[in-house]
Amino acid sequence: MSKTMRAAVLRAPYTLEVLDVPRPTVTEPGDVLLKVEKTAICGTDLHPYEGRIELESDVILGHEFLGTVVEAGPAVQQLSPGDRAVASCVVHCGHCRACRRFDPARCAGSRIFGLGIALGGLDGAQSEYVVVPNADLVLRRLPEKIRSSEDDLLFAGDIMTTGYEAVRRALRPGDTVAVVGAGPVGLCAAMSAVALGAEKVIVIDLVPERLAEAAAVGAVPVNAAESDPYDAVLDLTEWRGADVVIDGVGAESALKTACRVVAPGGTISIPGVYLEESMELPFGELWLRGVSILTGVANIVNHMDEVMALTEAGRLTPSRITSHRLPLTRATEAYELFEQRQALKIILDPQA
Ligand SMILES: [Zn+2]
Ligand SMILES: [Zn+2]
Repeated sequence: MSKTMRAAVLRAPYTLEVLDVPRPTVTEPGDVLLKVEKTAICGTDLHPYEGRIELESDVILGHEFLGTVVEAGPAVQQLSPGDRAVASCVVHCGHCRACRRFDPARCAGSRIFGLGIALGGLDGAQSEYVVVPNADLVLRRLPEKIRSSEDDLLFAGDIMTTGYEAVRRALRPGDTVAVVGAGPVGLCAAMSAVALGAEKVIVIDLVPERLAEAAAVGAVPVNAAESDPYDAVLDLTEWRGADVVIDGVGAESALKTACRVVAPGGTISIPGVYLEESMELPFGELWLRGVSILTGVANIVNHMDEVMALTEAGRLTPSRITSHRLPLTRATEAYELFEQRQALKIILDPQA
């Protein structure tokens, strides 16, 4: 095996190059070296790409990926060379108090692939090979005969499970769910709400193509450019508002819409990433109406298995949002397309 590999390296904001870099090796007993076969570009990757998260220079990006185990450290029990697996985008320690309480978002040892030293210094997976620490906890073996598709299972490691958990932590069967934003996570949340037994799912966006996708997964589309989302949601919910509102965007305008359309006693669940230090919210009104707000990084490791099972059962089909499939060698162009919102979701193939 060559000592180098190709990787998508963020040299500085807006400067992403595909370079030859040293191939990583297993160093800890719980590590797995994975040959990456599919890796997606996530909305979160745009934070460092556009300079909103400041990274050190020359970081390999990428935290949505699947591939084949090449080498497993001596402590790895669940995987052997040759196994194919998908990774959780977040790595946890697995044995602290928070991890034991199934609350890994509070794990002080949390790390995310490809987001620099501040988030644990793990190399990302938009590369030919990647080292996965705590592999027994972080990787899930793919079924030998996949009934859904590999692309569907790829998304279990991040966006699909992020959308799913945002709904699952808030939903009671029979609730009406409104999703603000029909981007990848919003569409995954809408699919999850349908699969988990929401009475009605409403998706609010401005882009007709994205709203058509929402309708295709069983949601009622509301075009905010044509009608006030507040009026539309009230019309669709016998004047109650939505029991659960998902902010699938992660921007103040979306959160304000969520505050308006949520029903009294309802829940706003926020999977989107917020980097603002403070924001203005109609807090008195939220308090009077007894609205709960749920935030934070998704609890991926504890929900991946549910998502993979529902995907294999044909209830979740996230790969439908994939708009582009490109070789890793074209990552520079892929980031430009994604940054200019000309692609909804891009899967890169490092082996092509
Ligand atoms: Zn992500
Ligand atoms: Zn922990």
